[in-house]
Amino acid sequence: MNNEAKIAYFSMEIGLSNDIPTYSGGLGVLAGDTIKSSADLKIPLIAVTLISKKGYFRQDIDSDGRQVEYPVVWDPSKFMVRLSRKVKVQIEERNVYIQAWRYKVQSITGGEVDVLYLDTDVEENTKEDREITAFLYGGDVHYRLKQEIVLGIGGVRMLHALGFHIKKYHMNEGHASLLVLELLLMHKKDVESVWDERWIWDTDTVKDLCVFTTHTPIEAGHDRFSYDLVNKILGAVVPLELLKRLGGEHYLNMTLLALNLSKYINGVAKKHGEVSKTLFPGYEINAITNGVHSFTWTCESFKQLYDKYIPGWANEPELLVRAENIPDEELWAAHLHAKNDLVHFVRNIAGIELNPDVLTVGFARRFASYKRADLVFSNLERLLKVGEKGRFQIVYAGKAHPKDIPGKDIIKKIIEFTKTIDNKIKVIFLKDYNMEKALKLVSGVDVWLNTPLRPREASGTSGMKAAHNGVINFSILDGWWIEGHIEGITGWSIGPKPLESSLVNVNDMTDAEDLYNKLENIIIPMYYKDKSHWIKVMKNSIGKIAYYFNTHRMMRRYVTEAYIR
Ligand SMILES: *Cc1c(COP(=O)(O)O)cnc(C)c1O
Repeated sequence: MNNEAKIAYFSMEIGLSNDIPTYSGGLGVLAGDTIKSSADLKIPLIAVTLISKKGYFRQDIDSDGRQVEYPVVWDPSKFMVRLSRKVKVQIEERNVYIQAWRYKVQSITGGEVDVLYLDTDVEENTKEDREITAFLYGGDVHYRLKQEIVLGIGGVRMLHALGFHIKKYHMNEGHASLLVLELLLMHKKDVESVWDERWIWDTDTVKDLCVFTTHTPIEAGHDRFSYDLVNKILGAVVPLELLKRLGGEHYLNMTLLALNLSKYINGVAKKHGEVSKTLFPGYEINAITNGVHSFTWTCESFKQLYDKYIPGWANEPELLVRAENIPDEELWAAHLHAKNDLVHFVRNIAGIELNPDVLTVGFARRFASYKRADLVFSNLERLLKVGEKGRFQIVYAGKAHPKDIPGKDIIKKIIEFTKTIDNKIKVIFLKDYNMEKALKLVSGVDVWLNTPLRPREASGTSGMKAAHNGVINFSILDGWWIEGHIEGITGWSIGPKPLESSLVNVNDMTDAEDLYNKLENIIIPMYYKDKSHWIKVMKNSIGKIAYYFNTHRMMRRYVTEAYIR
């Protein structure tokens, strides 16, 4: 195909656009933004993921406030072409054939990045195997391991079958770690008289080829498989003794496997790098803080504003540092435009009226319980006092993983609040969160709220999207916000400073009280009585946050620190 050596970027999920539902949340959207910035910057990169033909899921809410999941119906052939080449992997001693769909991300700079979506829905396969690439994060542990075989081993084979020359393999999270086994096989040394098996496995060469980005700051979040399962499904591609040495004695831990075979390893924010070092002592773990793709995550009215006052911003987001040049009235007008757009959108899709004159708080992300979407409701009496006379309204959205019962309970709880306190504070929940709704929300609200349990938010990126639209962050000091926050200047913190890197034994109440106090004494008064101060903080969100927390800056760091070393 093309002989230039490329970086192969592997990710279980990739979120490039709303129409291609192969993502579940921040990890996938980050991957999509990574690819778009690579295309803009002409970085020679090719991405590999799964086609997830039935998506993650479409979310509905029943009359009791419970999340109901439906398969997504979409047609890849509308967006990409199916390549004829087939490769095979062994799963449970069967051949499983894989084809790839090729999608081209084309930048107006002329840069281009291909994305290969692997698909096992191929006629040679059994009915069951044709479903391996159907559901993102679906099924049980067997299903997950099969998917990871297709992604990691199948992905490497597909790249080679298509004639790509790869200089680095970048694993975005541990789901693709099995690729290292395929690389070990490829680089097996041809030693004549071997008396020690270990000599033939060239781990150093494989290490030189691999880059690993971890995203999970707790032990339980890392994929691991029992060796019985591995033996049954994957078989002995490398000797068990070697696999245990690389992937863990008792379980095959995908993070450990990647850590042991990557020369460059990083976490996704400075704090997360530190937390990862305590989780995995003895590894050199760097930190490259995440970003977002500026052009994708800036709404129309702000794009026009930036084009006028900061030309060239989209491919050089550092220029947003000059946000101070934007006149106050025009900035506010652009914001009102986005806010009204959200009001219309919510009316159309949910039949609910938001009041554009009221301070609007947004909270939308995956409903994993550590994100504590319900923290706002910790002290209802206090909340009602802060919000009396309709001084603010809250918009929620987000999906819980189908098996995440506590996450689903939080959705139910919030739906109940939308009904019970509606006459005092307007609280709404938009179902089926996706990238389109994300852009409407991060640009159309006034304040973006994030309340994770520290130190569980590895980075978080939605607050960076908000900042690109002059929306102000109000957040727990965790993940990226530790680096983006200057109190009262770029936004506001919630709760104490993050000192320890272990799970802090904080009381939810401490965080909630701080949230109520700041909302009541700082945020609400400033919004209604000191608009020029408010606009100053909006400009700082752009000039002191968006200018830095973007994937252009992030990719330049991956290139200089991880890819060309
Ligand atoms: C950006 C984004 C996320 C990530 O949100 P966080 O608050 O960083 O967890 C999740 N889902 C969608 C659809 C997004 O666009």
